[in-house]
Amino acid sequence: MSASPLMPVEDAIDRLLTMAEAQWIEDSEAVPLSAARQRVLANDLLATLDLPPWPNSAMDGYALNVEGWDGAPLAVSQQVFAGQAPEALAPGTCARIFTGAPVPPGADCVEMQENTQVLDDGRIRFKQPLSAGSNIRPQGQENRAGDVLLRAGKRLGPFELAVAAAQGCTHVQVVRRPRVALLSTGDELVEPGNPLKPGGIYNSNRTLLSHWLNALGCEVIDAGILPDEPRQTRLKLEQLQHTADLMLSTGGVSAGDADCLGQVLRECGKPLLWKLSIKPGKPLTVGHFGRVPVIGLPGNPTSALVTFGLLARAYLLRIQGVEEVEPLSFPVSVGFAWPKPGSRREYLRAKLEGGRAVLYPNQSSGVLLGASWADGLVEVLEGCALKVGDTARFIPFSELF
Ligand code: AMP
Ligand code: MG
Repeated sequence: MSASPLMPVEDAIDRLLTMAEAQWIEDSEAVPLSAARQRVLANDLLATLDLPPWPNSAMDGYALNVEGWDGAPLAVSQQVFAGQAPEALAPGTCARIFTGAPVPPGADCVEMQENTQVLDDGRIRFKQPLSAGSNIRPQGQENRAGDVLLRAGKRLGPFELAVAAAQGCTHVQVVRRPRVALLSTGDELVEPGNPLKPGGIYNSNRTLLSHWLNALGCEVIDAGILPDEPRQTRLKLEQLQHTADLMLSTGGVSAGDADCLGQVLRECGKPLLWKLSIKPGKPLTVGHFGRVPVIGLPGNPTSALVTFGLLARAYLLRIQGVEEVEPLSFPVSVGFAWPKPGSRREYLRAKLEGGRAVLYPNQSSGVLLGASWADGLVEVLEGCALKVGDTARFIPFSELF
């Protein structure tokens, strides 16, 4: 393999994360739980309650005090349903109790009803030896008031929001949404709904990225389509620089392209054209317009998808304070041969079938359909051939949202 001047994917991620540290979003807002999914917690969430708030029964059955009990059948002195406040257990009796109901003070054990027998006189016979504590969920078993339940920087999904609900919260304090100005560049682009002009193609990156940005907690400022023309590009960036936390564009970065984004950034700063060891992908424009960071992704839909998913996503999570930005991945056995690896790291659209990764037949970077067919990306390291049964890293798409 010849010496490669291309930037490794890890280095590009590190540089973007360093850039993100300087763009950290400080503002936060209180948002109702119903609207907080995919947002990032701004402050640690502290418990205000012990959970469970009182000892409760894990079973339908009978509560009794086994301490000092001689094993004889017991009369039932009260019934406790979930949601009721029991009285103290009368000595020498048991209480009928149902799942989730508070255990009466004085009881130290619940026996499940299947292991009991109701005698003719109404007393309860316990068929098996019992021990204190069984079938009782103690107060504070899950957490104590004052515990840190969720750390600042945690992305909120259904589980985290349910944890907040269990504490009685109606709102959570989350980081303000990053405002991302989304630009599609290319003279050939036509918005869906308009007739396709000769030589034109419909803009698919805008739909791809605006949904994805929303899923990452961002607010999208849709800046529409820009022609491959520096003056208009510049005017647009001037307009956007006062509202956006990031300008994200697709297209116009490949060699031989008009590259007007790079040209505009060169005029007013130091644009960096990163030549990445990544396929699909490779050229990535990174810079600032005024004080606003700009990331220019390649235009090919699959190149945009891979570079956004592996690079821009990490940046956008980090500016919201998320620590763990690396997607979970796992090794898979490959069901295909890749005998001629390139000098760039490749991300192949693949599906998991019968425990093996199989490839979408057309891996061209212009083909978007493969991403919809696939479950995720198989990573082929630079210069490393694969044969059937070899192991490769698999990044599920679900992890990238
Ligand atoms: P570029 O990076 O501008 O050279 O674009 C590479 C390829 O991606 C070209 O075939 C473009 O037509 C296509 N392309 C660029 N932008 C988009 C877009 N927003 N939606 C769909 N295809 C695009
Ligand atoms: Mg173009």
